[in-house]
Amino acid sequence: MIISPLRLRLDGDALVSNWRTLAAMSGGAACGAAVKANGYGLGAREVVQRLAGAGCRDFFVATWREAAGLADLGVSVSVLHGLREEDLPVAVGAATIRPVLNTVQQVQRWRDAGGRACDVMVDTGMNRLGIAPEDVSTGLLDGLEVETLMSHLASADEDVPLNRLQRDRFAALAGKSGARRMSLANSAGIGLGQGYAFDLTRPGIALYGGIPARAFAGPIRQVVTPEVQVLQRRRVAAGQSVGYNATWTAAADTEVAILNLGYADGYLRCFSDKGSAIASGFRMPVIGRVSMDLTAIDASAVPDLAEGDWVAIDYALPEAAVLSGMSQYELLTALGARYDRMWY
Ligand SMILES: *Cc1c(COP(=O)(O)O)cnc(C)c1O
Repeated sequence: MIISPLRLRLDGDALVSNWRTLAAMSGGAACGAAVKANGYGLGAREVVQRLAGAGCRDFFVATWREAAGLADLGVSVSVLHGLREEDLPVAVGAATIRPVLNTVQQVQRWRDAGGRACDVMVDTGMNRLGIAPEDVSTGLLDGLEVETLMSHLASADEDVPLNRLQRDRFAALAGKSGARRMSLANSAGIGLGQGYAFDLTRPGIALYGGIPARAFAGPIRQVVTPEVQVLQRRRVAAGQSVGYNATWTAAADTEVAILNLGYADGYLRCFSDKGSAIASGFRMPVIGRVSMDLTAIDASAVPDLAEGDWVAIDYALPEAAVLSGMSQYELLTALGARYDRMWY
């Protein structure tokens, strides 16, 4: 195995601690985990193993391809995008994986396949996925073995009337679907209070260190830190420029380090002249354009930083989101395949 010049430093204790925090905030409701998009970029299998060890029993992915990658772990997985015709051969035989049925057609498809336990998504106002509340009250699900009836909040990270409206529409379905449990809240929804928790919560971003609302800022810990190696150190004379299109010019002689990191690694060009790296406790700003595979930093603050040394990329999610204009979700899921993923 060749050691990659980029790695994600992943804090397993922080991940578990975040889940416990969210579970406590969920009150009497069980707390699951959204692990779609490869566990938001961290590696779904490792996330599932750690959280299952801590007591998490309900996992959520987007597709059957993602679910199949977790099947041997023996945990309960719900597939949020439901059930296509193409999924049936895998779906009917997968004992621990349930489709989250989203449309009348998906419900029919699952019935025709002799479907066992499933979950159902009902749309309470986001107008993305889900059957209509009226479909539930008029008997569409009769006879179906529904484990969890779900809905999803459109604006849980904001204080807007739509939250209460969606919650009330969802609560009105209690006892009408035959579902064993009801589930509404994502990470931000947990922060809205226990009136939103129902029987099961489904956090994603906050597990991984995202701060969807102020209430999370204290207890939620950072989980992901990209670390990359220095490829070259050079002195750039005053008046010389660095990088593509020469967007940065040295005002004085400057010590520059070139990092093995670029936009192909999810370190997008919006970090040009804005991001920073850290070594020995000192901050080193990104200078010039981020390239596909390379980024330059002003290394003046760390005189002994040399070729082959590792630096940490400043990746505190709320701050990095403000700086880059990307969402905390994008910051995580953009982290690509070139990183070694190292759990500590
Ligand atoms: C992604 C997702 C979640 C998790 O959302 P976060 O905002 O990351 O906590 C929960 N429920 C559904 C339906 C989702 O698609």
